[in-house]
Amino acid sequence: MRFWRSTALGVPLAVVLAVAPARAVDVAAFHAAFNSITVSELGHHVDLLADDRFEGREAGSSGGRAAGGYLLQVLEELQLEPAGEGGTYVQSFGAGYRNILGMITGGDPKLRHEVIVIGAHYDHVGRGTARNSFGPTGQIHNGADDNASGTSGVLELVQAFTTLPEPPRRSILFAFWDGEEKGLLGSKHWTSAPTVPLDRIVFAFNADMIGRLQDNRVEVYGSRSAAGLRRLLSQHNAEFRLNLDFKWGVNADSDHYSFFERGIPVLMLHTGLHKDYHRPSDDTERINREGTQSVTQLMFCLAYELAEADAVPAFREDSRLETNVAQSEFERAMAPAPPRLGLSWGTVDAAPGLPITRVAADSPAAQAGLRIGDRVIRFNGCDVTDGAQFQLLVLAAPRATDIVILRPGDPEPQGVAVELRGEPVRVGIAWDEDVAESSVVMLTRVVPGSAADQAGLAPLDRVYAVDGQAFADAREFGQLVTATTQPVELLVERHGVLQTRTILPLAEAGCQRLVSDTPPPEDGTAPTQVR
Ligand SMILES: [Zn+2]
Repeated sequence: MRFWRSTALGVPLAVVLAVAPARAVDVAAFHAAFNSITVSELGHHVDLLADDRFEGREAGSSGGRAAGGYLLQVLEELQLEPAGEGGTYVQSFGAGYRNILGMITGGDPKLRHEVIVIGAHYDHVGRGTARNSFGPTGQIHNGADDNASGTSGVLELVQAFTTLPEPPRRSILFAFWDGEEKGLLGSKHWTSAPTVPLDRIVFAFNADMIGRLQDNRVEVYGSRSAAGLRRLLSQHNAEFRLNLDFKWGVNADSDHYSFFERGIPVLMLHTGLHKDYHRPSDDTERINREGTQSVTQLMFCLAYELAEADAVPAFREDSRLETNVAQSEFERAMAPAPPRLGLSWGTVDAAPGLPITRVAADSPAAQAGLRIGDRVIRFNGCDVTDGAQFQLLVLAAPRATDIVILRPGDPEPQGVAVELRGEPVRVGIAWDEDVAESSVVMLTRVVPGSAADQAGLAPLDRVYAVDGQAFADAREFGQLVTATTQPVELLVERHGVLQTRTILPLAEAGCQRLVSDTPPPEDGTAPTQVR
């Protein structure tokens, strides 16, 4: 059992606990559904939807309607329940526009009235105009990434969910929005004239432009629209190790906004803008098919978990105010403290101690009269053995301490009193809570050279567990980290990737770092989710 499934602390983790939900999940069935999302099928859908014969899929055009016809054919083949008007898959509106809608009714009699929307817009800009194209206009804009990629992803999600031998507990509405490029028309129309009562919608996913994964980076929007979503994403990302770029701002730039606006939690995944965006060159051969598969499979894990969870987290009203500007303020790392001593040194060689290679002007080292070429033999009563240990000694020492140096030409070492700057530091971190994520802290400062720095921690890292133990809040985290006399193992998340980091501070009142009794993990090994 991984820590996030522990209820020992009674922390509100309902959603992230739910991979092992109230009922036993058929792991083999889950895997079969997960594996039904294939590179070849995704590629096949994108190839078709981004073919010239659909003429850029402009809403209301013959090409746009033909693309809708392709979606209808796939949904019929997969025998999805129609969820449009009058027992059909279609909701018509505007100038010949069509949303295409299908549903899986949930299997739990108490939860099936709750509905999770999984949507993507299938329209694009046709041949482009000065208003919607970066040109050249007049040529077919195939919109392979925008948004044949997301449409294909949702088609594969329909297939994955219909592959399950039993429906998930909650219901799922699959929505292919029309008219997004004309101003989110399809999703706006649906939320004002919903074919499923709007108060039944508990969550909405949006896949818009998921076909150009580059450097493994995926932008995530809406992760603050309900508590705990960042953690949920990061836990499921263990399988994919995508570099998740969590963006606070939720803008009216795609269909998830129509739901967010109405107080429904949302998640939108997006592989980023590129030079072919809204140009005729957004073609199928430029799609990263493996990347599209990873994003689609991640969406499957998330949607499956939310569909099975005992509770879906509620919308956070505060997220409406959490802009990208608020994010950059919150994520501004604290300025590093000035160095306590102000020395640089060379590598260990045959002679005792460390050779000083630089003394910073006006530093405590300069004030104590230390010089380049001196060798540091002892510090605060400890023999100096290597640079990493020396850094920890400097950070942990009281302000008034002493240093023993050997000066070139002198026969004997000499002791020098030194007055360090700032307060002693043992671990070397400062942290803060995030109102959108309970039981998580974010590091705001990592002192250079400290045990935390040496463990590879960095500002903005998020910590989920200490020695395998969840914690309730920042205060409890502080107790677990600072009270320890043992190596401290942190479960850390950076850009959505989980990894363990072991902090090896100096032994209490000792001269050497603690030694980890467990072998260090292989490079960045994350705990893998059991499925
Ligand atoms: Zn677009």
